[in-house]
Amino acid sequence: MAVAPDTYSEYTDEQRDIIAMVRQFADEQILPNAEHYDHEDEFPQPIVDQMKELGLFGVTIPEEYGGMGLDLTTYCMIVEELSRGWISISGIINTHFIGSYLLMKFGNEEQKQKYLPEMATGECRAAFSLSEPEMGSDVQALKATAKKLGDGGYELNGQKMWVTNGLRSTIVFVLVRTDPKADPPYKGMTCFIAEKEPGVSENTGEYAGFTVPPPLKKMGYKGVESTELVFDGYKCPAENILGGEDAGLNRGFQQMMDALEVGRANVAARGVGIAQRALELALRYSQERRTFGKPIAQHQVIQFKLADMATQIEAARLLTRKAARLKDAGESSELEAGMAKLFASEAGRFCVEECFRIHGGYGYSKEYEIERLYRDAPLLLIGEGTSEIQKMVIGRKLLQRHKI
Ligand SMILES: Cc1cc2nc3c(=O)[nH]c(=O)nc-3n(C[C@H](O)[C@H](O)[C@H](O)COP(=O)(O)OP(=O)(O)OC[C@H]3O[C@@H](n4cnc5c(N)ncnc54)[C@H](O)[C@@H]3O)c2cc1C
Repeated sequence: MAVAPDTYSEYTDEQRDIIAMVRQFADEQILPNAEHYDHEDEFPQPIVDQMKELGLFGVTIPEEYGGMGLDLTTYCMIVEELSRGWISISGIINTHFIGSYLLMKFGNEEQKQKYLPEMATGECRAAFSLSEPEMGSDVQALKATAKKLGDGGYELNGQKMWVTNGLRSTIVFVLVRTDPKADPPYKGMTCFIAEKEPGVSENTGEYAGFTVPPPLKKMGYKGVESTELVFDGYKCPAENILGGEDAGLNRGFQQMMDALEVGRANVAARGVGIAQRALELALRYSQERRTFGKPIAQHQVIQFKLADMATQIEAARLLTRKAARLKDAGESSELEAGMAKLFASEAGRFCVEECFRIHGGYGYSKEYEIERLYRDAPLLLIGEGTSEIQKMVIGRKLLQRHKI
C-alpha cells in the first residue's frame, strides 16, 4: 500500500516524473530486497548498480559535468523516496552528495573537472569525514593534523571515526588541523580531498599511510559501511586542498559547516521518508489486525496514533522543503535546516515507535519490516548533529536574528 504524499500535486512536471521513477524503483527494487541486505549486513551492490544507471549519483551535479543539475529541493524529494525504501540506500549517496556540494561550491575548476564527471556516474564515490574517536559535536576539538613538507605537499596523521562509505569511496573530504596555534581553533582547519583505492583496506604506493580498518558493527543502518580511517604519514599534494592552497588553506571549517546545512536538509528528508514508511505499515496492519471484534484501526486510540503520525510527517515534510528552497534561493538556511533536521528526525523516531506499538508483539519479530525501521530510525537523531546540537544552532540563530 503506497501512500503518496499529499504534496505530490505541487511538484513541477520534472519533479513529478523523477519522483514517480524513484518511487517505483523503491517499490520494486529496494523494499523487496532490503530485509535480505539488512539481515545479512551485506552491501546492496545490485541496487547501487541500478542507481548508477538511473543517474542518482549525479542528481545535483551540473549537466556540464555529466550530472542532472537538479536543485536541493528535488534532491530532498528523491532522498525521501529512497529512505522510504531503506535509509541505508540514501546513506550510500548522502556523503557523496555532500562531497559534490563541497566541490561545486568551493572547488576550483581543475578539481571540478577532475572529480565531478566520475562522481556523476557513481564510478568515483565520495565520503565526508569530520568525526574522530574523541570528537563528534565539538568539531573545533579535532586532533587529526596535516603538516607541510619540504616538497610543498602535506602529510596527514590522525584517526577519523564513523565515516560512512569509508571503505568503498575513492575520495574522502577530510577536515584536519593545519595550524595548531590558530585562535579560535576553527581558523586553523583545512579540508583535504584525500584519494585512495576504493574497497582497499591497506593502501600502498601513492596512497600509502591511508588505512581503513574493518567496518564498525552497528545496531541498524546495515549494508552501508561506517568505518574508522587511519592516516599515518599519508602524503597529499597541496592541490588536493579543497579550493586550492591559496583559497582553501585554513578555510575548511567554514566549508564543512556550509556543507552541513545541506546535509541537515538531507537528513531531514530521510526522517520524512522513514516516517512515511512507518505510517504506511501502520495503516495496513491496523486494518488487518482484529481485537475485541473489530480491526484495531476502529479503536479511537489507534486512530489518534495514525493522526499524530500523519500530522508530524506533513509538518516535517514542509519544514524540510522550506529549508531546501531557501538554500536553492541562495539564502542562508542554517536556522531552517536545523529546525527541519530536529523535527523530522524526531518525527521519524516517533512514527517508527508508534508503528511498532501498533504491531504489538509482531513488531518485535524480525519477520516484520517495522523491526528494521526501529533499529534504523535512531541514527537520524545523531548524524549531521544531534537533536541537542540542533537546538543549540536554532537558539543561536534566533538570538542573532532578533538581537536587541
Ligand atoms: C552510523 C553513523 C554514521 C556516521 N557517519 C558519519 C560520517 O559519514 N562522517 C562524519 O564525520 N561523522 C559521521 N558520524 C558521526 C556523527 O556525526 C556523530 O556521532 C555526531 O555528530 C555526534 O557526535 P558524538 O558521537 O561524538 O557525540 P558527542 O559529541 O560526544 O555527544 C554525546 C552527547 O552529548 C550531547 N552534547 C554534546 N555537546 C553538547 C552540548 N554542548 N550541550 C548539550 N549536549 C551536548 C550530544 O547531543 C549527545 O547526546 C556518524 C555516526 C553514526 C552513528
